[in-house]
Amino acid sequence: MEAVILGSGSSAGTPVIGCRCPVCRSEDPRNHRTRASIWVRGVDGESLLVDTSTDMRHQALREGIDRVDGVFLTHTHADHINGIDDMRAFNGLQEQVIPMYGRPATLEEARQRFHYCFGDPPPPERGWYIPVLEARPLTESLQWGSVTVTPVPVEHGRWPIYGYRFNGLAYLTDVKRIPEEGLALLEGLEVLILDCLRYREHPTHLRVDEAVALAERIGAKRTVFTHFTHDIDFEQLAGELPEGMEPAYDGLRIPISGARA
Ligand SMILES: [Zn+2]
Ligand SMILES: [Zn+2]
Ligand SMILES: [Zn+2]
Repeated sequence: MEAVILGSGSSAGTPVIGCRCPVCRSEDPRNHRTRASIWVRGVDGESLLVDTSTDMRHQALREGIDRVDGVFLTHTHADHINGIDDMRAFNGLQEQVIPMYGRPATLEEARQRFHYCFGDPPPPERGWYIPVLEARPLTESLQWGSVTVTPVPVEHGRWPIYGYRFNGLAYLTDVKRIPEEGLALLEGLEVLILDCLRYREHPTHLRVDEAVALAERIGAKRTVFTHFTHDIDFEQLAGELPEGMEPAYDGLRIPISGARA
């Protein structure tokens, strides 16, 4: 199995429009960040997307994604869902309705905001000119081919949202706190991908020091931090993190061994 970091940026992306700070002017491609999302590829070719970020079209072109079996939505903040309209490309390629999974309340909000994406398939002569997603509320693990997907409840400030575990990998973006029932689902992780917004306090995201402390508590073999603002310089953060922890960058590919736990 493999996870690909499609985007490692926060809601504004890096560079930020109009900003002249050193990170925004950096020539290090690892400081060029699209909006947060990952692509999970199972050993049998399963193709699962977490979120449809604002930059989803660009990310799919960059990584050569030409099929999406299912989308797992973390929450409905604009940076995580506003690329949803481009799902129609996959509907057209696959000639299929595509399932979108998530917390029941999250899917309900997605349906309200993007009602046209959850309708009936168009008549064949019109083609797939709009996305056609089937909302599938998720409250417990499901098996997708070789991949066991478990929703992990986390707190994004005052919002209860989902992170997801895929076999030995967990992707927890937009987190301030993980309740005990969420932590219980994170035992024995090979790879943890965790929110790490910036150095300064933020009410709904982990700071760098909080993210490191939480990662130490979870104890995955490898931890990759993501969802960075332009406060974070890749090289600087990479040099500061403890052994086994590293910053993500767009396009980073993370192998996960065949364990199907
Ligand atoms: Zn900047
Ligand atoms: Zn958010
Ligand atoms: Zn976000």
